[in-house]
Amino acid sequence: MQPIVAKFGGSSLADAGQFRKVRDIVLANAGRRYLVASAPGRRDSADQKVTDLLYRCHDLAAAGQDFSDPFNQIRERFAEIIRDLGLTFDLDGALSQIAQKLKSAPERDYAASRGEYLNARLLAAYLGYDFLDAADAVRFTPDGRFLAEETNARLSDALSRVERAVIPGFYGADAAGTIHTFSRGGSDVTGALAARAAGARLYENWTDVSGMLFTDPRIVPDPGTIRHITYRELRELSYMGASVLHEDAVFPVRAAGIPINIRNTNRPDDPGTMISHDLPAAEAQRVVTGVAGRKGFAAVQVELSLMNNEVGFGARLLNILAAHGVPFEHCPTGIDTISVVVDAESFNACRSAVLRQIELQLHPDHLSVEEGLAMIAVVGHGMGGAKGVAARVFSAVADAGVNIRMIDQGSSELNIIIGVDEADYENAVRGICRALG
Ligand code: ADP
Ligand code: ASP
Ligand code: MG
Repeated sequence: MQPIVAKFGGSSLADAGQFRKVRDIVLANAGRRYLVASAPGRRDSADQKVTDLLYRCHDLAAAGQDFSDPFNQIRERFAEIIRDLGLTFDLDGALSQIAQKLKSAPERDYAASRGEYLNARLLAAYLGYDFLDAADAVRFTPDGRFLAEETNARLSDALSRVERAVIPGFYGADAAGTIHTFSRGGSDVTGALAARAAGARLYENWTDVSGMLFTDPRIVPDPGTIRHITYRELRELSYMGASVLHEDAVFPVRAAGIPINIRNTNRPDDPGTMISHDLPAAEAQRVVTGVAGRKGFAAVQVELSLMNNEVGFGARLLNILAAHGVPFEHCPTGIDTISVVVDAESFNACRSAVLRQIELQLHPDHLSVEEGLAMIAVVGHGMGGAKGVAARVFSAVADAGVNIRMIDQGSSELNIIIGVDEADYENAVRGICRALG
């Protein structure tokens, strides 16, 4: 029987009580042979994630300052889990090694990875599973690029040698053993890699909500769970800000056709969300699947009379951004205008150089930057065939008293994307959900 890979997120492993829930879940299905663990997350809204504490230790250490305050908080988090569960584990030995390394040669990714490393070791000890260090199987280049095929080969080999194992999420290493991490929330990616490498029949992603919700529950209370969703819809929603699953966690399992099931550790009987290539017939008619969004965008707006006659104008504009390492997110165009929506943080890091190059190379009639944009994506396979969805979205936003600053329809007809002022973001999402949810 093919195994199940189960990834448990930070809140699912935040304290001993959560570890007990995880054990019950694991024992309930013998197929749950490979587990991926996150670092302890928040126990309540006032709490701190161990990963955040580790980043703070690193930053203090790198500045040559005393990091004992966050370090002792980390010690206490793990000590409590060990004590409450009655585990035998040399925490002081493990922590003094980490502290030593932080003092002698502080490395940011190494520091951040230790939350997953320690938590996975504790979970393995608690369940009697083997511990399989991601540093030995998840491969990066020395400059931090993830190596998918080499990882798959190494991870498949390592997993084939163990019947049951816990793997720490979020990190791997290069050939010299230097640790590299994925971006934040990256344990979801490790889970997907393990599912592919193990030839799993299912990738379970256990978290603190009962699946993918129609929208962010921090903006709209009880938005309703999406029972089934396709990989493509999920990718759109997670890329645009539905942070329940890391946006890169879809690829490894999609290629292998392994379904993902997002589940709630605190309500294990809820069926959660199933993610696969196709929807069951009963849901195939659905028009809008979900709404997601993010703040932190800017739009570079370029105007030039007869731009339409200048072959390659858009390409040259995008090349200028690319040359400065700024990826573009959306690019709505008119006859004599083109806007490029970019991540504000990466754009601001090289803003004046980019604007200078645009002036020099493209000689626009007008060049401006719109700041403080939030982008909202309304996503659903059914939108391609349904009439009037865009009109309903736009009037919902207008009814919420919000001005739309940009519109872009993805070429797949899978989404409609609108840009609004950051200050209007929550209101616009609420308005859209009232009209379409
Ligand atoms: P974990 O620690 O288990 O990886 P995360 O905090 O990364 O969990 O993701 C779960 C959280 O994602 C939820 O608690 C919720 O606040 C947030 N979230 C944002 N958008 C959505 C959405 N559309 N559906 C579900 N959860 C969402
Ligand atoms: N612990 C890491 C983070 O907080 C990775 C994860 O939880 O997936 O981002
Ligand atoms: Mg997460």
